[in-house]
Amino acid sequence: MSVDVTASDTITPEVLPWQLETVKQLVQLKQNQRLPHAILIQMSTRMDSRNFGWYLVTALLCEDSDQPGVPCGSCQSCSLMDANNYPDFTFTTLEENDKTHKLNKDIKIDQIRRLIHQLSLTSNLKGGKLALIYPAEKMNQSAANSLLKTLEEPADQATLILITHNAGKLPITIRSRCQNMLVGNPSADDAEDWLKQQGVTVEQVKQYLLIAQRDAQQALKLSNQEFIKDLDQFRSRMQEYLGNQLDVTSLLGSMKNMDPSTFRLLVRNLLSETIHACLKQPLDDSTKHQIIKLIDLTKHSNFILQTEENNLNFQLQLEDVLISFKQIQNRGNDNASTEPGYLVT
Ligand SMILES: [Zn+2]
Repeated sequence: MSVDVTASDTITPEVLPWQLETVKQLVQLKQNQRLPHAILIQMSTRMDSRNFGWYLVTALLCEDSDQPGVPCGSCQSCSLMDANNYPDFTFTTLEENDKTHKLNKDIKIDQIRRLIHQLSLTSNLKGGKLALIYPAEKMNQSAANSLLKTLEEPADQATLILITHNAGKLPITIRSRCQNMLVGNPSADDAEDWLKQQGVTVEQVKQYLLIAQRDAQQALKLSNQEFIKDLDQFRSRMQEYLGNQLDVTSLLGSMKNMDPSTFRLLVRNLLSETIHACLKQPLDDSTKHQIIKLIDLTKHSNFILQTEENNLNFQLQLEDVLISFKQIQNRGNDNASTEPGYLVT
């Protein structure tokens, strides 16, 4: 098996209750010999989804399952998958750079060529050839172009599964040649039940789900990180900043131990809470103008705060967003003589 994953990674196959339906559907298609040769699965969660991919492949290959979509865990295929040694399966993901030991930013053409070669070989076992690419949106352009030829002329008995968090970043030519599927987030009730089972307190469940925009896996991660404490600290520092008791450098300095992804989430919440607070006010021209500005700033910050690899740049971009935010808030307050829109709970 060709596995472009670092040897130290161990993958425990597991699937969340709301993800099982997609696995069942695909297992059913395979049993009926109607499995498409290329499947693109978009995940709504922002969390790492390689476990889902691994589980799906294990379920597709299992020879002795007595529950639809649930691998038995003990047949030859399950054992080989568990040992990361299934001969007809290829997993392609971001590789570690030999020198820096950091993950590459993209999936490269050499990796896709290896995958195509593997798919062209005769199967060792009877399950057919299977390849998984995750996160598919990280394929660079030449890698995607190379894959396209395989999608146009698929090898016999070969199935290619692409899993992505952002299908929009994949070329339309790839998307259109795959069977597209979506693994969404759970309903609010299912998410709440699941989070309670994971030990999140009843009082915090709704709050974390709101912050994580119904992504239950991310809500759990935030709960484990005690994100609410960070949020409370950020809110009180922000109040001081808006009241001119703190400048932007001191504001960021007071939270310097926070990692960029947490900061990005805090800023996203700050902006969305402020927009919601504005929407509760009488919608005069001033408030409308403020909302438009805030939406523009949200789009801008979503775009520019993706640069966590470069800390200095991230810090500057963050200052830029917070300065713009304060200007919008001050202008809104001057015009409307209302309380600051932000700082609602
Ligand atoms: Zn099995």
